[in-house]
Amino acid sequence: PGAHEVSARVTVCRACPRLVAWREQVAQEKRRAFVDQTYWGRPVAGFGADRPRILIVGLAPAAHGANRTGRMFTGDRSGDWLYASLYRVGLASQPTSVAAGDGLTLRGTYVTAPVHCAPPANKPTTAERDACRPWLLRELELYWPELRAVVVLGGFGWTTLFPTLRAAGIAVPARVPRFGHGVEADVDGRSVLGCYHVSQQNTFTGRLTEPMLDAVLGRAADLAGL
Ligand code: SF4
Repeated sequence: PGAHEVSARVTVCRACPRLVAWREQVAQEKRRAFVDQTYWGRPVAGFGADRPRILIVGLAPAAHGANRTGRMFTGDRSGDWLYASLYRVGLASQPTSVAAGDGLTLRGTYVTAPVHCAPPANKPTTAERDACRPWLLRELELYWPELRAVVVLGGFGWTTLFPTLRAAGIAVPARVPRFGHGVEADVDGRSVLGCYHVSQQNTFTGRLTEPMLDAVLGRAADLAGL
């Protein structure tokens, strides 16, 4: 299947009972600030360029962010950080990501997550991670030939990515480095870059600063010739 078909198929997936219940419950109950809005409440497909050279791998949609707006990292503080940085390094058309249809486009970059439904407390189970793996696998199969860099936001994405690459038949070295900010792994001629997740836990505490984020995304842009 092509990229658009994968996107269309993932948005109707109901493989994880706990996540189906949670994403729909959140969409019904809503947060007070968004009470007038219709929440997406379904799996969130990846978002970005048609033939990306950079893939960004997060964790999972946020309950009142992507689970509300239907677009990866859109409508919450994490997304504010990510897209502002992508804009600063020349990979996004605008610094803000408010809602699907706000005009944002990405340059040579595609954003996805190893789990496509919002999990309670942002913590998917290993069973849910494994159930969602085929979607990431499809995306890797589609995009790997053109990819030059993969930026992984956080340890969950890092530990999920490498087995998924192997499952896609991509030559992953037997030993890959442990996740860390700024860590780089060479896989099949591409660079896999570790970056602390843009969650508020990291950005509020200063564990991840704007210059740190810009450095990794700028490095990816250089590697991709963008
Ligand atoms: Fe399907 Fe993934 Fe959502 Fe589970 S997390 S229901 S596998 S889209």
